[in-house]
Amino acid sequence: MINSKKQKQFQAPKGTHDILPEDQKYWKYIMKKAETLLDYYGFERIDTPIFESTDLFVRSIGEGTDIVEKELFTLKTKGGDMLTLRPEGTAAVVRAYLDNGLNVKPHPVKLYYFGPMFRHEQPQHGRYRQFFQLGAETIGDSSEIVDAELIFLAYKLIESLGLDNYNVHINSLGCSQCRPAYLKALKEFYKNKIKKVCSVCKIRFKDSVLRMIDCKEPGCQEIAKEIPQFVDYLDEECRAHFKHILEFLDEVKVPYILNPHLVRGLDYYTRTIFEILPNENITAQSALPGGGRYDKLINLLGGSKTPAAGWATGIERIIMAMKERNINVPEVRPKPKIFLAQLGEVAKRKSLNLFESFRKAGVEAKSSLGRDSIKSQLRIAHRLGVKFTLIFGQKEALDGTVILKEMESGVQETIPLEKIVDEVKKRLKS
Ligand code: AMP
Repeated sequence: MINSKKQKQFQAPKGTHDILPEDQKYWKYIMKKAETLLDYYGFERIDTPIFESTDLFVRSIGEGTDIVEKELFTLKTKGGDMLTLRPEGTAAVVRAYLDNGLNVKPHPVKLYYFGPMFRHEQPQHGRYRQFFQLGAETIGDSSEIVDAELIFLAYKLIESLGLDNYNVHINSLGCSQCRPAYLKALKEFYKNKIKKVCSVCKIRFKDSVLRMIDCKEPGCQEIAKEIPQFVDYLDEECRAHFKHILEFLDEVKVPYILNPHLVRGLDYYTRTIFEILPNENITAQSALPGGGRYDKLINLLGGSKTPAAGWATGIERIIMAMKERNINVPEVRPKPKIFLAQLGEVAKRKSLNLFESFRKAGVEAKSSLGRDSIKSQLRIAHRLGVKFTLIFGQKEALDGTVILKEMESGVQETIPLEKIVDEVKKRLKS
C-alpha cells in the first residue's frame, strides 16, 4: 500500500549550506591556485580534527572574545569530556605542532590547512555557522620578512583569482612591553565619552577596551575616529619591526593602508595584524584573508617561547567576491568531445566497455546509458556541442561495428569496433 502521508522534508541546518555540483569548479580552482602558491613557498599541508578540547580554544582565542563567549559549538561526550567544533585553525595547528613533535624540526615550520570551521553566528550573506577556511602559518621565526611573506602570499592568492582591486589593511598591536601604555591612553580617551558609547562598549571599557575600536555601532564608530593611534605608542623594537614590514611590502608593490581601527577579534595577536579588503563598498563581510603575528600563543599552549605568524581566509567569501565581479573559472571537467548513444540490450551491455576504452585513451566522452531513445540521446549530444556521436545499435553490436556521426555535417560512417578509438583520436586531431 502506498503511504499517502507526506513526510517531513529536511533543510540544511541554519547557517550551513550545500556546495552544489555547479559550484565545485570554484572550490577546485581556488584550492589549486592556493596549493600551487603555498607549495612553491615551502608550506606543507596539515589536517587536524574537526573538534578539539574546549579548553584549547578558550585559552588561545581568549575568554572575553566574541568567538569564545557566544560562538562556540560545544558538546559533552558520554565520558564527560568537553569538546568544541573548531571555530578557527591556528589553535589546532599549534596544538598539532606541539603534539607531534614538529617543534624539534628545523625552523621555521611552514604549514597550511583547509577545512570547515564552526561559529554560532547570526547567519547572513557571507557569514555562516559552517564555513571553510584556508590558512597558512609560519612557526619559529620572528623576523619581519615572515610577516611580509605571509601578507604577500595572501595578497598574491587574491590577485591570482582575478580579485585585483583589494588593499592590505595593516596595524601593529605592539607587544606586552608597549601595549599597556597604549591601553592606558585608550582608556583615558574613552573615559569622558563613556556615556555616548553603546551598552556593549560600556562593558568592553572595563576589560577589553581595544575592542571598542572596531565596534560596528555608528555612534561608537564616530567616536573611534579620534582614537589615539597604536603606532605612536610602539616601543623601538616594535616600531622597527612594523616599519621593516612596510618596506618589504613597498618593495613587492603590495598596496597597503595603515588602519589604526584594525584590532581583530582574537586575543592571541602580537605586533602585526592585517586584513585584505576591497577598495570600495567595505562591509563587515568583505574581509578575505586576515591574520597576524602571535608570538605568545605557542608558549601559552605549553610549548617553549616560539614566535609565529599566519592568516586565514574564508573560501565562501572569495567565491562571493568572484561571482559579484563575474570572474569565470574553468569547468572541473573539460568539455566532452564525443557522445556515445546506444540502442538495444546487447549494445547497452557492451557500451560500458566502449566508454571505458575512450577514458583510457584520454578522450573526453559523455553518454546517457539510462536512456533508450536515440532521438533523446542525439538531443543531448547536440546540447553538449560534441564533435562526434557514436551510434551503437543492436545491429552494430552484433556486427562488431559502430556508426560515427560527424555532428556538424551529419555525415555517418560505419567503423569496425576495434578501430573506433584510434579513428576518433585521429579525427579529433585533424
Ligand atoms: P578570522 O578567523 O575571524 O580571523 O577570519 C578569517 C577569515 O575567515 C575572514 O576574513 C573571512 O574571510 C572568513 N570568515 C570568518 N568568519 C566567517 C563566517 N562566519 N562565515 C564565512 N566566512 C568567515
